[in-house]
Amino acid sequence: MLPMLIAFAAAFGLLIGSFLNVVVYRMPNGISVVSGRSECPDCHHQIRAYDNVPVFSWLLLRGHCRDCRAPISARYPLVEAVTAVLWALVAAVADSTVDAVLGIVLVTALVPVTLIDLEHFRIPNKITYPAAVIALVAGLALDPSGEPDRLIAAAAAAAFLLVPAALISGGMGLGDVKLIAVLGLCLGPPVAVALLVALVAGSVVGVVLAARKGVQEARKTKIPFGPYIAFGGVVAIAVGQPLIDAYLKAF
Ligand SMILES: [Zn+2]
Repeated sequence: MLPMLIAFAAAFGLLIGSFLNVVVYRMPNGISVVSGRSECPDCHHQIRAYDNVPVFSWLLLRGHCRDCRAPISARYPLVEAVTAVLWALVAAVADSTVDAVLGIVLVTALVPVTLIDLEHFRIPNKITYPAAVIALVAGLALDPSGEPDRLIAAAAAAAFLLVPAALISGGMGLGDVKLIAVLGLCLGPPVAVALLVALVAGSVVGVVLAARKGVQEARKTKIPFGPYIAFGGVVAIAVGQPLIDAYLKAF
């Protein structure tokens, strides 16, 4: 049963990943993500349905447009593959329906957030707000007794990031605070693991950057924090609850 569920989640993740490509490409430019067919950015021919099969079409056409032969970025099949892997991961580790649903909501939001933050240095409310609402509704419907814990986790994690976001200019912003709140609503207490991993990963990269460019230059380098939060979120999904249990058992 479980292997079939994981395979199903991976296949569905591929399709969702294909949609997330559209979100990442269109949302920052204010284009509707639901209407209008995809087209080649070079020759503007519409992508045919049979050339729009996640990952496989790109491989079959060896990364080129069928009409003008313009190269098509490997980012598209990669986003589809990564989304499939993340959906499979959630299916493999979730031990309840509520964990599975909230995990899926989270990874599906984290993929476009990471790419848009890397490219545009912002996390769209158009992703964090709907994700928060869906997480809240799904949490309340599937596991009402667990909702207070998730709300407290979201508020605590957001409050924790609010201080550096308010004090330090550049790097961290309100988008990051909203994103960590979404993580809290989806993960509950294991959001602490996500926060810790994000801060450690961010510090390590900061130190490496300072060593390579010098402290002055590194300070000026704008680094989006969203991708670190996303990385922390995936780690928390994979090993968050076991880590918290082990920690609590140790005391
Ligand atoms: Zn073309």
